[in-house]
Amino acid sequence: MFARMAIRTFKLFQKPSHLASMRHPTTVLSRQISMEAESVAARLNSSGFLRTQGFIGGKWTDAYDGKTIKVCNPASGEVIANVSCMGGRETNDAIASAYDAFSSWSKVTAAERSKCLRKWYDLIIAHKEELGQLITLEQGKPLKEAVGEVAYGASFIEFSAEEAKRIYGDIIPSALPDRRLFVLKQPVGVVGAITPWNFPLAMITRKVGPALACGCTVVIKPSELTPLTALAAAELSLQAGIPPGAVNVVMGNAPEIGDALLASPQVRKITFTGSTAVGKKLMAGAAGTVKKVSLELGGNAPCIIFDDADLDVALKGTLAAKFRNSGQTCVCANRIIVQEGIYEKFANAFSNAVQNLQVGDGFGEGVAQGPLINEAAVQKVESFLQDAISKGAKVLQWG
Ligand code: ADP
Repeated sequence: MFARMAIRTFKLFQKPSHLASMRHPTTVLSRQISMEAESVAARLNSSGFLRTQGFIGGKWTDAYDGKTIKVCNPASGEVIANVSCMGGRETNDAIASAYDAFSSWSKVTAAERSKCLRKWYDLIIAHKEELGQLITLEQGKPLKEAVGEVAYGASFIEFSAEEAKRIYGDIIPSALPDRRLFVLKQPVGVVGAITPWNFPLAMITRKVGPALACGCTVVIKPSELTPLTALAAAELSLQAGIPPGAVNVVMGNAPEIGDALLASPQVRKITFTGSTAVGKKLMAGAAGTVKKVSLELGGNAPCIIFDDADLDVALKGTLAAKFRNSGQTCVCANRIIVQEGIYEKFANAFSNAVQNLQVGDGFGEGVAQGPLINEAAVQKVESFLQDAISKGAKVLQWG
């Protein structure tokens, strides 16, 4: 009854060569855009938004051995910044700072914590252009989408500011007449927050906002591909009055940082968004010190179009579901199943719509699809395309 196959003729599947040319711009247009990215980076640097050191105990800190890693613009391959490449020792110091800060932050009244979070929200919104530019620079998504992520990311801080005042307990009817049972909610302690590159701001605020609202303190480990937005957000947290040590950021050697977070008895919770493979490692590693874990792992998202669907609505919905962030979100449709009666119409309309998506540097006018995050991602998409073709998929259009 259902469609013969998922439609797999997505424009990005045909783009490795286009993406490769964006990485090494040869056209006048791409050179101009690359210059635009450079001047954005220079402006962000002079306004203090381009931080390159880790953030430990409220201080900007180099890696102890001086090592750095490159953060590259995925649209051009150019280096945006060299950031501190940290490991176990820096992480242990960040944990110690967070542990110290926990003793006071957990005792601050809920109303005060709420005010600090609200101020952080206000500052993020006030700087949404700069933060959006940083996201486009290091992650590649189109600027409009990046600024949209800032609003989305900030909303988690706003929500947490509101909820900070409503962390109520419970009184439970007792089975015995001379007992009273009640539940008092208390912060667990230091939280290790490990985040991916696809939402450089929102994945951080979604973890850090609730943790701070409860009175916990955090050590953030952003993806080494996109640490710049995390560092700028940390700077704003300090300006908002969130005390030094309550928010720390370390980045660099992911397994070393992860192992230090897992080994520490002072870290009481790990919150992670990323691959299932790494999630499993973290879950197993957290058992040694019986930490709480919250894991948001890979998604599996079919998009189903029925015969009676409104074609326009189905088209718009499928485009958004498939191509948001160039298909790099955990809820992006990874197969599209179309009922037979509407198959031809939908396939043609979808193919045309995809053809019209403008692919390019996220700073380019009218660009709807930025680059994939790196070469490995391009190769992964290529292999999906080859796999589909080898299993009988019919390609409706190329390039
Ligand atoms: P993706 O495939 O989406 O990049 P990953 O799970 O590899 O997902 O990465 C998500 C986050 O997990 C990133 O911040 C990455 O640096 C981090 N990470 C990867 N390996 C480890 C590890 N062994 N311990 C802790 N964090 C890790």
